[in-house]
Amino acid sequence: MESDIISPRYSVEVNTMAYLLCSSCKARMQIEIPAVGNGVYDPIRVIGSAICRQCKAGTGFEIENNVITYVSGAKSYGILNGALSETVKTLYAEAELSFQSGASNASTSMCRASIESALTEKEIQGNNLFEQINNAKKILSDVEIGLAHACRLITTGAIHRGELIALADVPAILSATVRILNKLAS
Ligand SMILES: [Zn+2]
Repeated sequence: MESDIISPRYSVEVNTMAYLLCSSCKARMQIEIPAVGNGVYDPIRVIGSAICRQCKAGTGFEIENNVITYVSGAKSYGILNGALSETVKTLYAEAELSFQSGASNASTSMCRASIESALTEKEIQGNNLFEQINNAKKILSDVEIGLAHACRLITTGAIHRGELIALADVPAILSATVRILNKLAS
């Protein structure tokens, strides 16, 4: 079975290559980046979402030099505490949706937004997110403070410096975000 790719940057007609399994129904999909000669692929790196022709679900993937380097699974990154506000839960849900769609930068941005929102709702003071995270030390452990800063920093790189985040880096950010949000809910 073949599939089409639509990514934020490229639209690629496909032929054959290694199989990618649909994260929802496990149907097999194939993707190929066209070689422009001498084993050189253009584009070299594609991040996108393969849309399953059977169930229409999107499976996030990353391909480099025509090798699949990442495929998003259907797994959960943790269960959010039900006591969190609808705003925080919605922001986090959008982070997971963005990830499943292959939008790594959008996903980490929404992780950051959900943490910022939860800190503000908890009335943690600070002139910026850096200060708010540091001022949450009565609630968050040192590890959680570190994870929150990691989430802040990786997103700052993506938004302000144009550094692209690899899809493979996102699950750790999603899991860290769930851990931080749940601590802020309690
Ligand atoms: Zn499917």
